[in-house]
Amino acid sequence: MSDLRELYQEVILDHSKRPRNLCHPDRANRSADGHNPLCGDRITVYLVIEDDLVRDVGFEGSGCAISTASASMMTEAIKGRSVAEVDRLFHLFHDMLTSRDAPVLPPAELDKLAVFSGVREFPVRVKCATLAWHTLRAALEDVAKTVSTE
Ligand code: ZN
Repeated sequence: MSDLRELYQEVILDHSKRPRNLCHPDRANRSADGHNPLCGDRITVYLVIEDDLVRDVGFEGSGCAISTASASMMTEAIKGRSVAEVDRLFHLFHDMLTSRDAPVLPPAELDKLAVFSGVREFPVRVKCATLAWHTLRAALEDVAKTVSTE
């Protein structure tokens, strides 16, 4: 288990140092801002939604390693997926971090996102890990306001 934990930490560190899809796609037709006042994380998520599919996704912002890595891995996980699939991933990810009844092993569908399962032991960090996902949801619903984790 400690090996797995080290691997998880390596993946998170890698994504926080070299975030993927850190950009504002030209054709973005949805966006939302998110803020986690507890930690000071700020993020803007951009989406290119066509035919109910996430054709492209990018994000900008500044935050701690967990929030940056979570945003980076989220963009990789949702690109090319349908809006319904993305919604399902949001719920699986959110439950993994917040539900008391979450299974010990994260659902296979979460794939690489399982690296964040250890974060549930640190309630303050849960908001860092879920900020990008809450902001993504607001962007999908095209809610023109800043999402706050508070
Ligand atoms: Zn944070």
